[in-house]
Amino acid sequence: MGIAEGKTALVVGVANERSLAWGIVQNLVAQGAKVALTYQGEPLERRVRPLAEQVGATVVGEMDVMNEESVGAAFARVDELWGGLDMLVHSVAFAEREDLQGRFLNVSRQNFSRAVEVSAYSLVSLARAAEPLMEKRGGGSILTLTYLGAVRAVPNYNVMGVAKAALEACVRYLAVDLGEKSIRVNAISAAPVRTLSAAAIRGFYDMMHEVERRSPLRRALNREEVGSMAVALLSTLGSGVTGQTVYVDLGYSIVGL
Ligand code: NAP
Repeated sequence: MGIAEGKTALVVGVANERSLAWGIVQNLVAQGAKVALTYQGEPLERRVRPLAEQVGATVVGEMDVMNEESVGAAFARVDELWGGLDMLVHSVAFAEREDLQGRFLNVSRQNFSRAVEVSAYSLVSLARAAEPLMEKRGGGSILTLTYLGAVRAVPNYNVMGVAKAALEACVRYLAVDLGEKSIRVNAISAAPVRTLSAAAIRGFYDMMHEVERRSPLRRALNREEVGSMAVALLSTLGSGVTGQTVYVDLGYSIVGL
């Protein structure tokens, strides 16, 4: 029996088979969870539906995290489907490509707000929608994805680092609010993995190679390794962990020189 047998999981942020969220879906399914997916816009629907079919996941419709109505509709569909929810994965981020290079100083007020809203506020909005569904199950677990650029100044990561710092703070405050309902909230801080969004960051391949050169494990991270830690944090294996940012980075963040 898998560790997630009989559990239900909504995963937001699968864009294609390279997505970190897809590695999480594969691990959840392998451990027996029933999984629901959302997509953003028609081009992504065409990519997400065949992936969902591969693993027997249910597509519960479109969700743009900037649109509260679409968030509400997706959670309502999940409630209809399962009468509650055990696990939620938030694997969503956005910043304008022009802000993922050069000087952080140049970011506009509008682009700054949008990056923080899509990448951090969305976790608050999804957690609020998940709360009543998780209460029906007597508790639950929420997981988001972050990066070292939240706590260190990483060249070109810029406004996304600020958004991830906000996201990690949201994880702690949400963990406090939801703890009394036995809902846990955690983040995985992953080393660079080649995905659609990552390609927008200037110098992304240098970031990856730096991890291969300098991390204690001296290799690249693969998305399955993020997926397996995700299952641990989402399932009862992680029952004593909340409000934490767990580094899945081959040890890169502990190295000084
Ligand atoms: P990805 O496959 O491109 O996933 C990013 C997802 O965010 C996409 O599905 C994207 O949909 C979605 N998204 C953006 N704006 C949205 C919105 N308004 N509403 C709903 N969904 C929206 O890239 P990824 O690398 O797996 O990213 C997943 C998470 O991991 C992000 O939070 C990222 O910052 C984090 N992370 C990634 C790495 C890495 O190296 N890859 C490392 C650490 C942390 P669209 O394609 O339609 O925009």
